[in-house]
Amino acid sequence: MALDVLAIAAHPDDVEQTCGGTLIRMAEAGYRTGVLDLTAGDMGTRGTPEERIAESEAAAKHLRLDWRGNLRMPDARLENNISARMTLAVKIREVKPRVVILPYWEGRHPDHYRACEMGYEACFLAGLKKLDEYSEPHRPFKILYSGLYTNIKPSFVVDISAQFERRMAALLSYTSQYGGADASGLFPSEQEIRERLGAIARFYGNLIGVRYGEPFIVKEAMEIGDIVAMPVRSI
Ligand SMILES: [Zn+2]
Repeated sequence: MALDVLAIAAHPDDVEQTCGGTLIRMAEAGYRTGVLDLTAGDMGTRGTPEERIAESEAAAKHLRLDWRGNLRMPDARLENNISARMTLAVKIREVKPRVVILPYWEGRHPDHYRACEMGYEACFLAGLKKLDEYSEPHRPFKILYSGLYTNIKPSFVVDISAQFERRMAALLSYTSQYGGADASGLFPSEQEIRERLGAIARFYGNLIGVRYGEPFIVKEAMEIGDIVAMPVRSI
């Protein structure tokens, strides 16, 4: 199997909030897309790991994914150690993505920035011929960082106006997390999550003059061949 795009995330339901619209758009463009969740959310207050994985598979249909996997690493205490990195690197060699999307390297939840660090290092390891003798070396060409959780200026924004509703349907597949009212206030209602994610996507969409957008960061410079055809009106 060779994927065009693989998003790696700490928890099931992360990509549905960060880069799901972009994944849908790429699938609609004919690319092979996939998601690898590192944990099954076993420390979550509501729902069992089995329920979360079943929900993530329902969400995968909305996201039009060709492949979704879960490494079932320990939730809320994700560790970037050699065994975790090796497991991830071998999985990257199996699914051979050209583009990898990682969470941004800063954030409130330790699992998110650890997933970023582990993902970056595993992409490097995956390219080493002698890493293991059972899989072919493969190093992703491009690494994008999904910057939704942090307030930073994106390198670029993907217009997901046409994909926003489908992304929302994917997120609402996690009925254990977003199902109905909750007295504790810890779990947002559907209305609350719609307003919150709608506002964030509107903010980033506004940066490029469209309705809804998803922000990304790249470490390297972007190349432009035709400055006359550049999109996004200057302000
Ligand atoms: Zn998360």
